[in-house]
Amino acid sequence: MKSDMIDRLLSFLDASPVNFLAVKNIADMLEAGGFRRLDPSMPLGNVQAGDRFYVTKNHSAIFAFRIGAKTLADAGFRMICAHSDSPTFRIKPNAEMLTEGGIVKLNTEVYGGPIMSTWFDRPLTLAGRVIVRGADVMQPQTMLLHIRRPLLQISNLAIHFNRQVNDGVKLSKQKDVLPLLGQITSRLEAGNMLMNVIVEELNKQCPVKAEDILDFDLYLADTTPACTFGVHNEFISAGRLDDLSMCFAGLEAMLAAGAADTTQVLAIFDNEETGSQTKQGAGSPFLSYMLKRIALAQSHTEEAYYQAVERAFMISADNAHAWHPNYAEKYDPTNHPMLGGGPVIKFNAAQKYASDAASAAIFAGLCAKAGVPCQRFVNHSDVAGGSTLGNILASSIPLRGVDMGNAILAMHSCRETGSVRDHEYCVKVFTEFYEL
Ligand code: ZN
Repeated sequence: MKSDMIDRLLSFLDASPVNFLAVKNIADMLEAGGFRRLDPSMPLGNVQAGDRFYVTKNHSAIFAFRIGAKTLADAGFRMICAHSDSPTFRIKPNAEMLTEGGIVKLNTEVYGGPIMSTWFDRPLTLAGRVIVRGADVMQPQTMLLHIRRPLLQISNLAIHFNRQVNDGVKLSKQKDVLPLLGQITSRLEAGNMLMNVIVEELNKQCPVKAEDILDFDLYLADTTPACTFGVHNEFISAGRLDDLSMCFAGLEAMLAAGAADTTQVLAIFDNEETGSQTKQGAGSPFLSYMLKRIALAQSHTEEAYYQAVERAFMISADNAHAWHPNYAEKYDPTNHPMLGGGPVIKFNAAQKYASDAASAAIFAGLCAKAGVPCQRFVNHSDVAGGSTLGNILASSIPLRGVDMGNAILAMHSCRETGSVRDHEYCVKVFTEFYEL
């Protein structure tokens, strides 16, 4: 059942352990597809039909544009949004904690809402960005880091010390989830173990001295490669399906789609897992600034931007909950999407999702046009459920749009479960959307 498209998804997931690496990989693929990088601190210049370009924000959010044959004012834009971040653990400053026997563990802080127990007893590594001394104090350099070997582990307490472990355990975010980094072999290593690892890794890219490392944003990541499983290889086992699988489906569609009258936009925001209220999150005006600049470059009037927003349509793509055969009681009795059943439209009466009957009808119509089945998700009314970036974005840009995503199991686990068929369906319907 596995296809080239699924192999590409699995490789992307393995190469993208955190937001910074995901954005770099998306940028590389956009460049290979003919998109050029723009510096948002410089004038946008002329914008012509057929132009393809992208911008990044904070190295952790990325926005790609393919300008349509008609202007934004005349034809609006078609946008797919997703998010680059996933729940994990951030390495705190002064992270090394030397314990008995020379064992060094790292102090961490939870990022987002991980199922913490799923991070135990598996080989982990470090990934993120390191800030290195630059030309002057206001211009430090950013280097990406991804250590591609098992480096750390959060080890469980033996069952003999906690006989109730299988009855459920309350975990402390400060005590229980600190990974082991190593055991010192010389006094020189004490206090320098983490920095030594960082310097050694960065020196594979270019010469860097420890005293030039100013700070870092580093996170834990699983080292076990993403894979398919099941008798027919119909399932996907991987970390960060939420939401890198949707980012990648949007990217594949953007690269595969033909030219259109309407401008195509792919918006990958950061920090959805912590509420989106950052300069690189969906609560930021950055994307609306970019769209306004494009509209002004084309039509020389702000009016063009407001017309574009009214003509636009947004697909906010974030994974949905698939029906879990072990926990049927947690699901809505009549709306519980199945793995492999196609993209899922998400509804919520309290408007945690952007979908309404009008936008859902459009998305369902797109699925029908692409020959793809489509499902609907609503929470069991006694279960609180989650939220996503669609309506946060809609509160700053009043876009018509739908919240959807592929159904997965174990959302926010270190290893989530997805469906091969759903990924292929999703790329198909996204491509159809861009080509409209
Ligand atoms: Zn998500």
